[in-house]
Amino acid sequence: MPELPEVEVVRAGLAPAVDGATVTAVEVLDERSLRRHRGPAEDFVERLRGARLREPSRRGKFLWVPLVPRGALGAEAPGAEAPGAEALVVHLGMSGQVLLRAADAPRDRLTRIVLDLAHPVHGPVRLDFVDQRIFGSMALDALVPTPDEPAELIPSQVAHIARDPIDPGFDDGRFLAALRRRDTTIKRALLDQTLVSGIGNIYADEALWAARIHYDQPTRTLSRPRAATLLAEVRHVLGRALAEGGTSFDALYVNVNGASGYFSHSLNAYGQAGRPCPRCGRPIVREQFMNRGSHFCRFCQRLRTPR
Ligand SMILES: [Zn+2]
Repeated sequence: MPELPEVEVVRAGLAPAVDGATVTAVEVLDERSLRRHRGPAEDFVERLRGARLREPSRRGKFLWVPLVPRGALGAEAPGAEAPGAEALVVHLGMSGQVLLRAADAPRDRLTRIVLDLAHPVHGPVRLDFVDQRIFGSMALDALVPTPDEPAELIPSQVAHIARDPIDPGFDDGRFLAALRRRDTTIKRALLDQTLVSGIGNIYADEALWAARIHYDQPTRTLSRPRAATLLAEVRHVLGRALAEGGTSFDALYVNVNGASGYFSHSLNAYGQAGRPCPRCGRPIVREQFMNRGSHFCRFCQRLRTPR
């Protein structure tokens, strides 16, 4: 399942081909892939056809391509701030892929939506939305201002998602204060997209291991320095995965050019049950957590009871 680093790889890969391109044709092969679009497939096709695309954006694992507002086409500075601005939102779900192809390349069997693009520099290119399990989707959605500073425009479907820790607008102080106010446990908090986005199961387990914090530690009992250390470890883990191109544990997930060019970078805790903890040598264990698993070292990551 793609997480922030994988989605950022897709975003960065799409950017040169998409930014400034015009949508010349839209074909919906499976309407189930429009489940998050409010309106019929014809509406999606008509609104998208002829639209000019801007540089893709991302928040957490949500990806979208802003459209140049129709009224601004041909203008010197196409204002995304114009009222009525909208974006093509791409939900990758469990297995969604956005693949850039040559205009005449054969189609993947699992292709659900096809966009033909004309780019002023790169010429014609095809953007295929491929999705085996159909938990992902595409949708057109209105862009709305973020409630917090710095104000940005984000799709209304994404508006409830908090900034991710590598967002320049992420406020560390506010996050750490919010963490203490929540009556929850730390891993639940890390996975709560309304508190902080972009941290999935893999990166949560890795950051908790690095910060030596038990996944079930109540957030109220975490000192501010320990919470700050954890946030730093989250950034470190995400940054390392970004630098290495994301981590894929799902053979379905491939990058923007369709190549499954993913490494498996060295993980310390996630998926390592039974193997020695790289810090102390005792075995990493897996416990059931929120229908998934938590991987941790019982010795290095003890549940601490506050005095
Ligand atoms: Zn250990």
